[in-house]
Parts: sequence; structure tokens; C-alpha cells
Amino acid sequence: MQFENSREFARDLDKQDKLAKYRDEFIFPKVKGKDVIYFVGNSLGLQPKRARKYVDEVMKDWAELGVEGHFHAEKAWWDYHERFSEKLSKIVGAQPSEVTVMNTLTVNLHLLMVSFYRPTENRYKIICEEKAFPSDQYMISSQVRFHGYDPSEAIVEIKKREGEQNFRTEDILAKIEEVGEECALVLIGGVNYYTGQVFDMEKVTKKGHEVGAFVGWDLAHAAGNIELKLSEWNVDFAAWCSYKYMNSGPGNASGCFINKRYHNKKDIPRFEGWWGHNKARRFLMEPEFQPEPSANAWQVSNAPILALAPYLASLEMFDEVGMPALVEKRNKIVAYLEFILHEIDKEVESTFEIITPANQRERATQLSVFLHGEGKELFKYLMDNGVITDWREPNVIRLAPAPFYCSFEDMYEFGQILKKGILKH
Ligand SMILES: *Cc1c(COP(=O)(O)O)cnc(C)c1O
Repeated sequence: MQFENSREFARDLDKQDKLAKYRDEFIFPKVKGKDVIYFVGNSLGLQPKRARKYVDEVMKDWAELGVEGHFHAEKAWWDYHERFSEKLSKIVGAQPSEVTVMNTLTVNLHLLMVSFYRPTENRYKIICEEKAFPSDQYMISSQVRFHGYDPSEAIVEIKKREGEQNFRTEDILAKIEEVGEECALVLIGGVNYYTGQVFDMEKVTKKGHEVGAFVGWDLAHAAGNIELKLSEWNVDFAAWCSYKYMNSGPGNASGCFINKRYHNKKDIPRFEGWWGHNKARRFLMEPEFQPEPSANAWQVSNAPILALAPYLASLEMFDEVGMPALVEKRNKIVAYLEFILHEIDKEVESTFEIITPANQRERATQLSVFLHGEGKELFKYLMDNGVITDWREPNVIRLAPAPFYCSFEDMYEFGQILKKGILKH
């Protein structure tokens, strides 16, 4: 498609956009009385208007029913988390029994490591990407130390090549091959948080299995952003937070995937609690743990219903729209944003460098842009003028136009504000 850098053209694209009506389902922060241009749905998604209704329902049930809400609320609390399985399974490409929602992301990764990182004298290494999200680095390093190994020996990082911004699949596969029988676990972010690069999860998973390792994915930047096929790719486990692309609210619950081949395994180690116990017998308070025959066996505590309520509201919107429609709009709006960036770059003789891969296969909603010669004052200018972006040292902005609520006109308008901001200093 031939794009144009004009308001009229952008408005035309909005008219053709089947998801345009969803913009009105979200609440936008305002700057100087105007809705902001929100590029940080990869960090904290906007609040869906329906979220409040779902939270209010829980508050009302709690007020009117007290503890009876566990069984007699319209959406009963004792199995509230099970309302997520089917809808979430469609988002991550899994069977409903393979998906559950509980705790928060880093906590879940720790819990999953109990099951899937079981180092032995000869097989104890974990392969991850260099400069992984800090929480993942701390998590992996503390797990390794917990088991009595030395992180500098047990953690093997996949590196980018000198002068390159992204990882090459061939290098990841080669590293797995090289570590071979010493590799206990491959654990990588499915979409890199810094560059927005999408990894070839199918190939990497296959290679990890070839050397006899478990393979898990941190899908914080992938869930609700890209099409996933966790069952088909034969992934062992995965976890994601819900407050980024999935718009569930700050610090909210995490989703987990646990491949069904582990569900009824008696010898799999796991940290257990009563919410993972056979649900028909949960309240009999029996001494012996009987795991649910699903990912729910990994549940520990009774579910935080007030937190899950807005997540459920958001999930129902994903279910209405479906990932294919979101992906279709995502591809178009990101391509338009890329076009706008190139156009503005020509006009201001600046030197933007988009470090996100240019090919569609390796990228999703996020474009990370090096603004050579620009400093943090540009970021501040954007902020003061109603554009919320994310700044990372030294001078990278991350732009993620979430397809649910960003418009093509937003992209045009952003270009105009960016141009003014650069010409100003
Ligand atoms: C956002 C993010 C996290 C955050 O973890 P929490 O436990 O939810 O605070 C962890 N890992 C990655 C890769 C992330 O992008």
C-alpha cells in the first residue's frame, strides 16, 4: 500500500479500520485537556471502560454476600480463575487445560523453575539472551545460586553479533547445540522488550529439545501482541504478565502455560497449595494433595478476585475481536508509523535508526528507534505535548501503537509533534 503523510490520508485509514470502534472502549489520560497519543501499551495498557463494571460487581458481591460469594456470587469466586482458561488458551495457542492464571510474572517463573530447572552435576546450564529484562536476570541468577551453582558458569547468554541490533536465529540454535548435554533449560523472552524482536520460538524450542533441555518462554511482550502456538510448538512452559498488551491493570496477575504432558506426572516437583488440589475435594481439607489434572495443579493460593476482575473484562474484549484481527491492524499501523518516521526523518535531516527488525516475521507492535543526536529533552517535549513514549538510555524511544486503541491519525499527529520537537532545538 502506498502511504501518504497527511491527516486526510490517516483519517481515511481510520475509516477503513474495523477495530476503530474499540478506541471508545478505553479511557485515555489527558494532557492539556486532550487525549494523549499512547505509545506505551507495551508497558501498561490503557484501562478498558468495562473493567470498572467487573470490579464493581465483585465489590457488590462481597458487600452483599460476604464469604458466601465464594459459591453464590454470579461469577463465583472459588473457581473464578477457570473463566480464563478457554479464552486465554486461544490467545496463546494452547488447550484450555494447559493455561491458568495466578500470582504475578516473576513469581510464576520462579514456581515454574521448581518444575523445569532441575540441574544435575552434568546438566545444569541455562541459556538466555544477553541483556534480558532485569527481573528475568535476577530470577535466573538467584535460581542458579539456590541450587548451589555459580551463575557465571551456569548462565550462558546468547549474544548479538558485533555492530548488530538483533539476535540471529542461527546463532541461538548454534549456542544451544554448543552447550548440548550440559543445557538444562532454555529460557528466553519471546519478544525482546528492548528492540521488539520476535524470536522463532518453534525452531528454538525444537533445538532445545534435541539436546534434551526443557524450553520455556517469558511472554511478557508477546501475549496479546503476537500469534502464539504454544501447544503446536511443543513448548514446555511459558508465563506472561497481563498488564502490558492485555490491559488488565497495574501489576496484575500472570498467565501460565504448562504443556499437558506434565499434568499427570507424579514425579514432577512443584510447590503446592490448596488451590491446586482436586477441586471437587478442595474444601474437605484432606491431608494429602491430589493435583488437578491440568495447569491448575500449579495454583497455590486462593485467587485474588479483585485483581482478576479487570483482567477478565479485558480478556473478553480480546475474545470478541480475536488475535487475527488485532494482528492485521497491528501490521498496518506499525507499517504506517514506520513510514511516518522515515518521512519526518527526511524533513528534519535527523538520523533516526529503527533497531527493530524491518521484516514482518520478526517484529510485532513495537518499533524501537535510536534518535541519534537527540537527548532526553525531546522525550520531555513529546510528553509535554501529549505523546507518551518510553525512553531508554542512551537515546532510544520505544513506540508501541496498540491496535486496540491507537488510531492512524495518532501516527500522523505524532509525526507532526516529533518534527516540531526536533526543529525546536
Ligand atoms: C514486564 C516484564 C516483566 C515484569 O515482571 P513482573 O513480575 O510482572 O513485575 C518480567 N519480564 C519481562 C521480560 C518483562 O517484559
